[in-house]
Amino acid sequence: SSLARSGMIRPGATLGVLGGGQLGLFFVLSARRMGYRTLVLDPDPASPAMVAADRSIVSPYDSEDSLRDLSDSCAAITTEFENVPARSLEFLSDRGRVRPSSTSVGTCQDRILEKTFLSSHGFPTTPFALVSREILPSQDEIRGLIPGILKTAREGYDGKGQWPIRNYEELASLVSRSATPFVLEKRLDLAREFSLLIARGNEGKTVLYPVAENHHEAGILHISSVPADITFDLERQIREIGESIARTLDYTGVLAVEYFLDTSGNLFVNELAPRPHNSGHYTLDACVASQFDQQVRALCGLPLASSRLLSPCAMGNLLGHLWSGTELPDFSSILAEPQAKLTLYGKNFPRPGRKMGHFTVLGSSAQEAAATVRSLLTGLS
Ligand code: ADP
Ligand code: MG
Repeated sequence: SSLARSGMIRPGATLGVLGGGQLGLFFVLSARRMGYRTLVLDPDPASPAMVAADRSIVSPYDSEDSLRDLSDSCAAITTEFENVPARSLEFLSDRGRVRPSSTSVGTCQDRILEKTFLSSHGFPTTPFALVSREILPSQDEIRGLIPGILKTAREGYDGKGQWPIRNYEELASLVSRSATPFVLEKRLDLAREFSLLIARGNEGKTVLYPVAENHHEAGILHISSVPADITFDLERQIREIGESIARTLDYTGVLAVEYFLDTSGNLFVNELAPRPHNSGHYTLDACVASQFDQQVRALCGLPLASSRLLSPCAMGNLLGHLWSGTELPDFSSILAEPQAKLTLYGKNFPRPGRKMGHFTVLGSSAQEAAATVRSLLTGLS
């Protein structure tokens, strides 16, 4: 195989992606458009990205035969799914180029490592404690963290793997029933939520996207609007923290940083995603280069493109509860909106909370676009 750890990988080469969800699909589409071949590895044969890829490997993420096949077939490998076992990424890194690095993905995929990394480097993060069946802190030690949220250290997403904690007894009983480690986080009085997308390429060249403001419901992203309506000073803080995190990780690829702003005006880093992010889907429709274009460029050692926003916009997620059985919702109101662009992921099995698609609306301001998204979403449900 043509394994390269540095230097430019030219069109015609095959790029591999671990994970075949919608993020993998958009990576594949960007790669194809730029003249690359693609290979997707995912355990699910119905993965959206497999439809668009040149080749697929249906396999668990820890099968050594499949990982060897992947690395023999690809000039470089990236990931769209952050829970790929760190050992699998290390195996691939020993054999060729993997971006972001297995160390970066390993840090971001485990809330304990992630929070320890953030706090040890002085980045502001939600107050937390490590909790497990073996190490249950005393009531006194975690008084300041209740009411809180217990989060599994690994494998949580879209609010899954999280439990509200109202008192010490609840914590003790939940933790005693499980062998997995957790992070207990103080529940913040959230005023607003933001995210920042960072693309970091060769020699640390970095491109930042505008700050997005995000609205979650039941732990799931519903609406993002861009650019966030924030003071110059808050924007500077968000950008400086994000850029510094990417630098400290010596990151290569696309990194998403999620932020909390509490009602007292304090800014915290919530979590990191070592990949493109749902809140960055607007970049497909409203920026010079999408977050997936940058993922391809960073992976291949190409110069990064401009992240410039071409129009204020907002994005709405289309979640599984809008489907009745397997039947599509009536999207005519979105299609009738001339400044809206509808994207469906081609998933065959809608479930409540499952991300089935999204739409982006351009507007004269992010607020106006978000209002349109909100009313279109209300009309659908
Ligand atoms: P996930 O991996 O599921 O995205 P997050 O930790 O980002 O997990 O939590 C999902 C959402 O739940 C957040 O975006 C926020 O709306 C809410 N949330 C999470 N942690 C806290 C907290 N400590 N205080 C208040 N709200 C929180
Ligand atoms: Mg999150």
